[in-house]
Amino acid sequence: MSHPTAPLRAPLDIEFDYTRSLGPVLSQFMAALAERRILGARGADGRVHAPPFEYDPVTAEPPGNLVPVGPEGTVVSWSWMPEPLAGQPLAEPFAWALIRLDGADTALLHAVDAGSATAMRTGLRVRPRWAERPAGSIRDIACFEPCDAPAGAAPDGEPREVTPGMTITPVRLHYMHTASPGETAYLRGLAERRILGQRCGVCGQVYVPPRGTCPADGVPTSEEVELPESGTVTTFCIVNVGYPGQRVTPPYVAAAVLLDGADIAFQHLVLGCDPGEVRMGMRVRAVWGEDGVSHFEPAGEPDALYETYARCL
Ligand SMILES: [Zn+2]
Repeated sequence: MSHPTAPLRAPLDIEFDYTRSLGPVLSQFMAALAERRILGARGADGRVHAPPFEYDPVTAEPPGNLVPVGPEGTVVSWSWMPEPLAGQPLAEPFAWALIRLDGADTALLHAVDAGSATAMRTGLRVRPRWAERPAGSIRDIACFEPCDAPAGAAPDGEPREVTPGMTITPVRLHYMHTASPGETAYLRGLAERRILGQRCGVCGQVYVPPRGTCPADGVPTSEEVELPESGTVTTFCIVNVGYPGQRVTPPYVAAAVLLDGADIAFQHLVLGCDPGEVRMGMRVRAVWGEDGVSHFEPAGEPDALYETYARCL
């Protein structure tokens, strides 16, 4: 068990799939990759952009017919990736490189499997290493490799099922969150079913959750204040939109709740009544769950006067 005043730490993982419609130009580009061809776009000034632009940087017009480029190219700039991260093109150390494909005037960002940093250089000639089973994605180019490397067997796998016009990018963020001393005290308090805030020694405002400093005076706040479980809804919205992993079924209310004795409202759920009954000034009380305050519910008291919470709107 850690020291009772040590800041709390916890690993956090955020993951979601980012789905993007490709539009007419990039759809052609990706469909060509599934056929192991690379396309660029010729601009009004005659320059060939690869990957193709969606709108001409000079005229803002969409490109006409796309033109084949590469497949070989020249490294114009690069950076070594000594410890690849999960989900990157290669599991072994590799280079991120800007590659100007033959016939193009601009560079494409991709990975180069050069074996070692000493084998990488500006001017290096590279060729694509195609994925075994293309899927209409930039990853149909598994990576680039030096042209003087021994050629592997040409892949002949059939394309995977291609989703026309769409690309799905998994996004993953793993990090360690360290709570501030004020936040740590707040979280430890919740575990004991106490709601702890801090009061500014200059202006006397009470902040919950505590911020560690007063945003009005710029001074540290250290005086701990225990707040009651009762408060007032200052503003609210009714959530009607569902999303993966949602714990409460819409429609439900997310509200700004001003605890009695606090000078700043915090956001929480208001459950236990029809969403249409929630209103500004409604008196609510905390309902405790396993991880602290689960939500607020109507307290069944007369509404608070507007003057009592107007300063917090
Ligand atoms: Zn202050």
